[in-house]
Amino acid sequence: MTADRVTAERRAAQKHQRACIIWLTGLSGAGKSTIANALEAALVEREKHTYLLDGDQLRDSLNADLGFDLPSRDENVRRVAQVAKQFVEAGLIALVALISPLRRQRDFARSLVTAHEFVEVHLSTPLAECERRDPKGLYKRARAGLIKEFTGIDSPYEAPQSAEITIDTTGTTSDECVAKILSYLAAGRY
Ligand code: ADP
Repeated sequence: MTADRVTAERRAAQKHQRACIIWLTGLSGAGKSTIANALEAALVEREKHTYLLDGDQLRDSLNADLGFDLPSRDENVRRVAQVAKQFVEAGLIALVALISPLRRQRDFARSLVTAHEFVEVHLSTPLAECERRDPKGLYKRARAGLIKEFTGIDSPYEAPQSAEITIDTTGTTSDECVAKILSYLAAGRY
C-alpha cells in the first residue's frame, strides 16, 4: 500500500507546476492582500493551481480564537504556515498574505518546506506610506489609542534580511509588483 501512495511530487507534476509557498510579509497597508489577489489571478490565468491564505480573513475563521499578544501572533503564524505546507504537499502554489512580524515566525514557516519551496516576498512599503494609505482606518485608530499592540506603532516589525524578493510599493502599481514576482517564478520554473 505505502509503495502506491501518491507523493507531493506526483501531485505537483499532475498540475504541471512546482509547488511552493509565496509568503508576503509587511506592515498593515503595505499591499499584501492586494498583490496576493492580483498575483493569484495572474497565476490562474497561466493555468497554475493556487490557493490564497489571507491573514485578515483567517482571523475570522481558523484563527478566530487568537488575539494580538506575542504568543497569539506566534500561534497565528504557526497555523497558517502549517496549512500552507499542506497545500504544498497537495501540489499547489500557496500564497500567504500575513504581516508575520517576527523573523523567527517567518523562519519557522520556511523550515517546514524545502529551500526552493519558500519564496519570501517582503513588501517594504515604509510605515509613513502605509499610514498615509490607511485603507482600513486602523492606523488612525491605533494612533488614537483605540487599538493596542498594532504592528509598526506599539508592536515590532522585524524586516527580513534575506527575502527572495523585496518590493517597496510606493509609487508603483500592483501590476508592476505582480510582474516582478511572476518573473522571479518564471526564472525558477515554478
Ligand atoms: P495589507 O494586506 O498589506 O494590509 P492591503 O492590500 O489591504 O495591504 O492594502 C494596501 C493599500 O495600498 C490598498 O488600498 C491598495 O489599493 C494600495 N496600494 C497602492 N499602491 C499599491 C501597490 N503598488 N501595491 C499594492 N497596493 C497598493
